[in-house]
Amino acid sequence: MSDQLEFLPKRAKPVRKATALAEVNPVAQVRIDAPLPHLDRIFDYSIPAALDEQVQPGVRVRVRFAGRLINGVVVGRISESEAKSLRPLERVLGPEPILTPATAALVTAVAERFAGTFSDVFRSAVPPRHARAESAPSTRATKVAELHEDDWASWDRYVHGHALLQRASEGRLANVRGVWGSAPAKAWTADVVALIHAVLSQETGGVLVVVPNAWDVQQLVAVTDDLKDTRALLSAELGPERRYREFLSVLRGQSRLVVGTRNAVFAPVQNLQLVIVWDDADDACWEPQAPYWNVRDVAALRSQLEGCALLVGGPSRSVETQSWIESGWATALEPERDWLRAHAPVVRALETEDLARDPAAASARIPHTAWAVAKEGLRTGPVLIQVPRKGYLPLLSCQQCREPALCACGGPLSLKSQNAVPQCMWCGALAGSWSCTNCQSTKFRAVATGVERTAEEFGRAFPGTPIIWSSGDNIHRQVDATPALVVATPGAEPIAADGYCAMVLLDARGQLMRPGLRASEEAVRRWFAAALLARPKAHVVLTADHALMSVQALVRWDAGWFATRELADRKATGLPPESRAAVLKGEHNDLIEVIESVQRTVEVRVLGPTDGKAIVLAARKEGAQLAATLHAIAVARSAKAALGVVHVYLDPREL
Ligand SMILES: [Zn+2]
Ligand SMILES: [Zn+2]
Repeated sequence: MSDQLEFLPKRAKPVRKATALAEVNPVAQVRIDAPLPHLDRIFDYSIPAALDEQVQPGVRVRVRFAGRLINGVVVGRISESEAKSLRPLERVLGPEPILTPATAALVTAVAERFAGTFSDVFRSAVPPRHARAESAPSTRATKVAELHEDDWASWDRYVHGHALLQRASEGRLANVRGVWGSAPAKAWTADVVALIHAVLSQETGGVLVVVPNAWDVQQLVAVTDDLKDTRALLSAELGPERRYREFLSVLRGQSRLVVGTRNAVFAPVQNLQLVIVWDDADDACWEPQAPYWNVRDVAALRSQLEGCALLVGGPSRSVETQSWIESGWATALEPERDWLRAHAPVVRALETEDLARDPAAASARIPHTAWAVAKEGLRTGPVLIQVPRKGYLPLLSCQQCREPALCACGGPLSLKSQNAVPQCMWCGALAGSWSCTNCQSTKFRAVATGVERTAEEFGRAFPGTPIIWSSGDNIHRQVDATPALVVATPGAEPIAADGYCAMVLLDARGQLMRPGLRASEEAVRRWFAAALLARPKAHVVLTADHALMSVQALVRWDAGWFATRELADRKATGLPPESRAAVLKGEHNDLIEVIESVQRTVEVRVLGPTDGKAIVLAARKEGAQLAATLHAIAVARSAKAALGVVHVYLDPREL
């Protein structure tokens, strides 16, 4: 045996110079940047003596893994490893620990909550390194703010609002959790600024405000100009260098106020006192990449882990925050009834008698009342017309058989103007010689009217009145107080200088009939958001039946009442937030395998699988178990390359 080996070429022995290692705690615990679930654990590396001082928990490192150099982050240092032989760390990237212990704990908790991996959540929590931003000197100083009369006035509009602001200004916010729906006739930013002033009137402590989009950030920037020396902005729009510089100013404790979009919810604010989340039901608050976390739930985890206060506000109230209130985890801050009586818009929906008296009103898209209210409003100032759909005539169908009018590619056809040729929304092809595939008719009709066509119709009815339309790529953010018709899609409504004198919320019925669990909740949110822009006691026409609950919510200006009813429905049907839901997407057979594995450990109700999707529902107390099980299954499957990928969405926005 040994003789035979003599004839084989000798294998070169690996030349490994004995590197001197750090004397104390020579083992670094590293999370590597790899999204595969079976690599979602801590790997140990030895620390060369030369790197001893630089390797602290939280620094970025380069490590060798499976023959390649990849990035990682150090999460701890220990004296001994259970692994037999360790590779050394290759390099330390940047001198600063960029992952604080608090952020590491939050990232871990979010990964667990949403059955995801540490590295996926880490990518959201810590922006990519930018060396130039790192070397730039930071010049910010911390600053103390003052509480103004206006700030007290803002919160005096809410029951218990004064006490809340008082606590914030005395540094007694620990574990306060509140939910508020904005009171009408004053900008929501005023409520947020008051809280910022209260916390920053203390010598130390920080505030984090997370909003859905860049426009919300801009609105807050405009009203916190006096605090810009201690304010950091965190949103993707800033570009990588500026964003990293702002991130570092937070990390270094130079910014006590952080305003940002989605990922900002992880910002490492020092001595964090208060997290404010505005408009938690906006779809921009859901991370589109795995593990699909959302701002509201991450903020709640953060409040629990760090003991900081959490206030979630919005134009209306989400069904999830309603469940916080009913479970006693959070308190509702309702607008004062006196304030509402004096300021809430006067909302008119379509009454049964109206419909009986004017049968045309039942089918007319723009009922008589709407024209009348718009005309009256235009005597004094701007009037808002809210239209849910973009474009001109965005949806066409066959005039004869009413089948949707489709392009050869299967995409829907739309009209860009009155005399345009129908065009495909997907491939852009013009369909000049369209004929119905069902009945061969060549005539089509509009099944939905967009914002541009609506602007045209109002323009004809009010000749000489300026028409402003705002939607898609043509967004106006502000209009002055002179009479004008402003036609806008939800979220694109300009702010009117002194508020709108009247409003018409069109196609309300259609919004309620959209498919999905949140159709009514979303419609109500959009109506409240528009109505918040009205002058005190302005007239608002909502083109849906008066008796509907969602319509009553606006008529009574009581978003809490509506959320209570929505939650009662969810309880009756056992749907989230009454239960925890996991939506699984993948190949049919893979889904079956995963569902069977889940059922072995957790008691669940399964809907599907159909069309590559299944919904798994578990009791709330089983939620953590469900997430852990799904993660364990993902780990086991990812280790075997032959198995198909199943995507997991825990508590998604839509089932
Ligand atoms: Zn047809
Ligand atoms: Zn097409």
